[in-house]
Amino acid sequence: MPGSGNFIHDFIDEDIESGRYQREIYTRFPPEPNGYLHIGHAKAICLNFTTAKKYDGKCNLRFDDTNPTKEDTEYVESIKEDVRWLGFEWDALYFASDYFDKMYECAEKLIGKGKAYVDDQSADEIRETRGTLKQPGVNSPYRDRPPEENLRLFREMRDGVYADGEKVLRAKIDMASPNINMRDPVIYRIAHSSHHNTGDRWCIYPMYDYAHPIEDAVEDITHSLCTLEFEDHRPLYDWTLRELDWKSPPRQIEFARLGLTGTLMSKRYLKALVDEGKVEGWDDPRMPTIAGIRRRGYTPEAIRAFCEEIGVSKANSTVDAGLLEHFVRDDLKGRVESRNVVFDPVKVVITNYPEGRSEELLMENNREEPEMGDRTVSFSRELWIDGEDFMEEPPKKYFRLFPGNEVRLKGAYFITAHEAVKNPDGSIREILCTYDPKTKSGSGFEERKVKGTIHWVDAATAVPVTVREYGDLMTDGEGGSQSFNEDSVAVRECYAEPLLKEAASGERYQFFRHGYYIADAKQSDPAPGGHRVWGLIAGLKSSWKKEKKEMRQK
Ligand code: ATP
Ligand code: MG
Repeated sequence: MPGSGNFIHDFIDEDIESGRYQREIYTRFPPEPNGYLHIGHAKAICLNFTTAKKYDGKCNLRFDDTNPTKEDTEYVESIKEDVRWLGFEWDALYFASDYFDKMYECAEKLIGKGKAYVDDQSADEIRETRGTLKQPGVNSPYRDRPPEENLRLFREMRDGVYADGEKVLRAKIDMASPNINMRDPVIYRIAHSSHHNTGDRWCIYPMYDYAHPIEDAVEDITHSLCTLEFEDHRPLYDWTLRELDWKSPPRQIEFARLGLTGTLMSKRYLKALVDEGKVEGWDDPRMPTIAGIRRRGYTPEAIRAFCEEIGVSKANSTVDAGLLEHFVRDDLKGRVESRNVVFDPVKVVITNYPEGRSEELLMENNREEPEMGDRTVSFSRELWIDGEDFMEEPPKKYFRLFPGNEVRLKGAYFITAHEAVKNPDGSIREILCTYDPKTKSGSGFEERKVKGTIHWVDAATAVPVTVREYGDLMTDGEGGSQSFNEDSVAVRECYAEPLLKEAASGERYQFFRHGYYIADAKQSDPAPGGHRVWGLIAGLKSSWKKEKKEMRQK
């Protein structure tokens, strides 16, 4: 596809031009309520809703709940919440199970036309006689039952006369078709199980390939957008509506599934992680679920921009997760304030700063957005700095603090380190430094420059915070298979400037020189004793730009 052209929109343009549909453009997002939505679904949601908007049309939310066993109302509610959070509102909300009567009626119609038959063969027999890519299938011995007999048997199936698996209804198409999906596919099966919407009313349930085109057609959908694995099912989609004499049937168009590096896009797999307790729940911040990335601190704006950027294509590909992070960073950088938080804290004592003295210094809230103003932070003789910002024996090009070196304390003074005082176990107890009062930030001091600037918090007023850093959910195991990354959370105890104590859950900040963080939404407000838990949204640096070109070529 050249440029950022959207081939789906090209098809729709064609259909508008040819007058194929005498009705408005209508799309739908049809999740199966068997788990929480993930970022792959976000791509489908954005595509369906923005396409409808582009053509001044409509988009439905439809729960594809034709499978009785795996579905749950918890999932229905979470899906509605997630679609709304992404910024979309459906024109109508439907449950596919509301069409069970219609689907049943259509099946009787196919039977009446000699286009469907009841097969007594077992699932194994049906599979074994389906043939292969090279070999045609074998006709069922029940294939030529007369319509009246099929109708009687199908009604008996409906009325609960038979056990699960005893009989199925199959479309009568062509057992020699080069497309295996067309070799008399099963369209109804018996399942004596309760359905979350229809209860025990039905003991026969339609199969996806038969149900889906009817769902679309009933809702007047014009363009049924689905993922690539359904391309080979399209002939069956079209066959179903043609045999049912549907006027102006919807057009199925397939696009590539979204995959992301370092994670896995499958409700079934994600559910297993939840059930096994590997993660905190569907909204664990490491999860690619929409609930997870919401708690992680990603914004709907960032996700929509990401989906816009990746566009649609006909080739499945795995997108670098760094691209998604890039959009998150891009969205947050202009709207969140910065705070100082010190990781792996080490104490600095400024020996020539008077004991008992303290001063208030101005600190900008967002370096790039001056209108976001300043705040004051206190400064005194004892400070905390990042463990990484001091080395006793620095390598070349280390410009931060080491004995004999002078650095700038962001927003404060220049300090020079002299000596590291050790604990009996060899760890550093404190770093003895001196400051130069002439170098106060904002005083216009220009006599000498220093190469390193580090941040700090005043030990007298600092508050302890817990910071959780997240890694990839999945790691590449042997032979290219992915496995759960047991090392995906690191918990760090840090010191922060006191303002962070008052943050409410869900508030986001840039931790100066570290990244973007969010006050964890699972923690109650106010945080117990002011001790907040913060989660990493995204680091500050992108490794993505250099990969962008490569990714585009894939
Ligand atoms: P999963 O295997 O994760 O359950 P699914 O395709 O079975 O995925 P559905 O609930 O049937 O999930 O999907 C609803 C819609 O979202 C479908 O139209 C499907 O094609 C689309 N979709 C699902 N996964 C992706 C993905 N990774 N990228 C793009 N679209 C997706
Ligand atoms: Mg599915």
